[in-house]
Amino acid sequence: MSISLNTIGALIDTDHMLRACCNNPKCRHYAKLDLEYLASKLGRDHGSMHKDLVPKLKCSKCKSRNISLILSAKSTEGFGHV
Ligand SMILES: [Zn+2]
Repeated sequence: MSISLNTIGALIDTDHMLRACCNNPKCRHYAKLDLEYLASKLGRDHGSMHKDLVPKLKCSKCKSRNISLILSAKSTEGFGHV
């Protein structure tokens, strides 16, 4: 079984989430990305890889564009009901 997770839509459909972490050592801001929002802005077929998304993002705290993305599955995060 191979699932491609290289689009925003694929991440939503497979219950994944993306978090962004600022690499500025004085900031280290950490935020969950709103994939539904990104899908509505960029389209569900937009790439979800670092090179696709990072140019669209900047740290909301320090405005840095030096950002890391962390992919995880919701099911492993212990999420309850929304
Ligand atoms: Zn920052």
